[in-house]
Amino acid sequence: MVNDNWLKLKDLEYRNQQLYCGDQSLTELAQTYGTPLYVVNEDLIRKRYRTIHNIFSNRYSKVRIHYAVKSNSNLSVLRILEEEGAYVDAVSSGEVFLTKKSGFTSDRIMQTGNNWTDEEMQYALDNNIMINLDAISHIHRLKKLCGNSNQQLPILSFRINPEFGDGHHDHCITAGKTIKFGIFEPQVIEAFKIAKECGFTQFGAHMHIGSGILNITSFKKALDKYFQIIRSVVEELDITFEFLDFGGGIGIPYRDSENPLSIEKYADLLISKLQYECETMNLGTPYLAIEPGRYISSEASILLSQVNTIKNNGFRHFIGIDAGFNTLIRPVLYGSYHEIVSLLKTESDESIIADVVGQLCESGDVLGKDRKFSHLEERDYLAILDAGAYGFSMSSTYNSRPRSAEVLISRGHANILIRERESFDDLLLHQIIPDRLKIAGGVENHD
Ligand SMILES: *Cc1c(COP(=O)(O)O)cnc(C)c1O
Repeated sequence: MVNDNWLKLKDLEYRNQQLYCGDQSLTELAQTYGTPLYVVNEDLIRKRYRTIHNIFSNRYSKVRIHYAVKSNSNLSVLRILEEEGAYVDAVSSGEVFLTKKSGFTSDRIMQTGNNWTDEEMQYALDNNIMINLDAISHIHRLKKLCGNSNQQLPILSFRINPEFGDGHHDHCITAGKTIKFGIFEPQVIEAFKIAKECGFTQFGAHMHIGSGILNITSFKKALDKYFQIIRSVVEELDITFEFLDFGGGIGIPYRDSENPLSIEKYADLLISKLQYECETMNLGTPYLAIEPGRYISSEASILLSQVNTIKNNGFRHFIGIDAGFNTLIRPVLYGSYHEIVSLLKTESDESIIADVVGQLCESGDVLGKDRKFSHLEERDYLAILDAGAYGFSMSSTYNSRPRSAEVLISRGHANILIRERESFDDLLLHQIIPDRLKIAGGVENHD
């Protein structure tokens, strides 16, 4: 019941009534690997990366696409993007660790921290990556750590809060006066001044205004403010920049009534502004950096789930599936909408309107409200679309349900499991039982 052309944008189509992703029957995958199952489409990750990279590179000579690791930090996804030549935006030492393990060299990693500890700063210094700070108090701490360990001062950037943000939910707006991120206009000059006095010589400037933005005018408003602030820094301090980073936030069409944001228009907007400002401020040609997460990873994964229960309580229909907010939390956390479709397209006239719910002992465990399905039976499979960003990476073992498996598909290659389904034994991991509470033989041996 979802528009076929919209599905095509995501490399999905019904063939002989069966939903396919690329050349792969999804029912076959669900049967082979079990559910819930995240299916990652390698071709689409590469396609999204290449699209955005080419559009920007065709318009500007020095472009860096920093993939936002937190959207999907699976090692195979990172390997694919490393092969493509991507840079990364890491938000924790753990993400720096994963990207290094995935072959990203230091010069392609930037960490945008928030509430850094000294240990995290030291880890960033030890790994020789670019550092993006968002508190003035951290400059001296960073400088001191460099001094202590006799390390070279890193390329230093500040996250500017342009006082204007946007996003698909309040929690995803990351700029504005009441938001914890970034440094405000009056303090930005001070930050760069202190940094210069501390001996830092290579600089970047950064902003990230929110997530899930489909409206170009939001980017435009923030961009104007960002450059107004940079202008005052340049006039005051005679500084040049290695890079200017405009953050992520590009939304994707989660509903079949929505259209993608035009990357061409977004690039035109950013680059014409960048070129004008660099020329009039004599900034030369800094790297242009953007940090898409969702745009690259979201549409490239779907979550397959099996129907356990179809229930009509007299007031409402419920479709109970084997995925819940333990598997995909976005609908519950942000009220996000994900299209949910049956893997089998039936031409039946009968249809039901139902809430799609998970297995958790939580009445809020609803993945889709008032969804329309034609003929559906228990043990049928559903696909929850656009689950690649902030899907697995936000999943949990709540209710002691082991996390799901992930499988990678790609045209011309055999399907391959890229994350095993967790087991009950994994639920025991890292737990320590005091001797006085131990069962003879140990918990793990007790039947
Ligand atoms: C989360 C994040 C991003 C990516 O946001 P998307 O909406 O997924 O594109 C980029 N930069 C920073 C600093 C972030 O925290």
